[in-house]
Amino acid sequence: MSDRDGKIWMDGQMVDWRDAKIHVLTHTLHYGCGAFEGVRAYKTPQGTAIFRLQEHTDRLFNSAKILRMAIPFTKEQVNEAQRAVVRDNQLESCYLRPLTWIGDKKLGVSPKGNTIHLMVAAWAWGAYLGEEGLKRGIRVKTSSYTRHHVNITMTQAKAVSNYTNSILANMEVTDEGYDEALLLDSSGFVSEGAGENIFIVKNGVIYTPDLSAGALNGITRNTVFHIAKDLGLDIVQKRITRDEVYIADEAFFTGTAAEVTPIRELDRIELGAGSRGPITEKIQNAFFDIVGGRNPTYAHWLTLV
Ligand code: PMP
Repeated sequence: MSDRDGKIWMDGQMVDWRDAKIHVLTHTLHYGCGAFEGVRAYKTPQGTAIFRLQEHTDRLFNSAKILRMAIPFTKEQVNEAQRAVVRDNQLESCYLRPLTWIGDKKLGVSPKGNTIHLMVAAWAWGAYLGEEGLKRGIRVKTSSYTRHHVNITMTQAKAVSNYTNSILANMEVTDEGYDEALLLDSSGFVSEGAGENIFIVKNGVIYTPDLSAGALNGITRNTVFHIAKDLGLDIVQKRITRDEVYIADEAFFTGTAAEVTPIRELDRIELGAGSRGPITEKIQNAFFDIVGGRNPTYAHWLTLV
């Protein structure tokens, strides 16, 4: 990914893509303390707009706070950096990756006295789990790896180090031919996908794990709460067991990268009719209308670049 034209915002300046480099003795590279965001910008009738920019920036600052990292920029600067990166790379729709990390001033576990850095990159990125997956649903397997316990790595931070667990789970199941992993919490209840929140539908009611199961407080998850309310559907946050997923009428993953992706199978058990369910489809359509600027109620969630 490093050998391409374009610009990356790095510590306050727009630098050439190929020059956006860090040293091998960078603290975060060794010990994994850093935080990032995944953000998307969509083409709308008014122009390219970043979806829920402020909420993503707020979560980045919250992640940094949890990790005791002081980001040396204001939220306004970070918002503006994201808009500038999309503009300067002339992207119509794209994925954005802000990342904050600890510098290379010194090593040793304690980051005290080290520098804190921030970059924002953006590039075109289509459907994370495939166009086909968005329409037909994906095949998911429960991972043998447990999701982080809430008092280990801090699950409300979108921390770099949390993703080793996601990588292990994703590799384990994709090696066996599945599309994505589902992780259970340390008590055995459903937590989330390797990079997505999960929802199930049963008898017309939508359920999702409450955050005590160690799932990230997803911004798409919150968007689905609003959509469900608009559609007159109830959403219940509660502990969910894996067999509740097996007998659900429908299930879907949400995430900035994954958007709203139906799940058609878990552990080789067909969910519902084994295809995208009708409520999932309604939510998906409403989601794409909102991010595409076709629902004026949510115009305030779109920041033109
Ligand atoms: N859980 C995990 C582990 C994730 O990586 C993501 C993607 N950021 C999500 C949930 C969904 O969060 P969001 O909707 O804010 O992208």
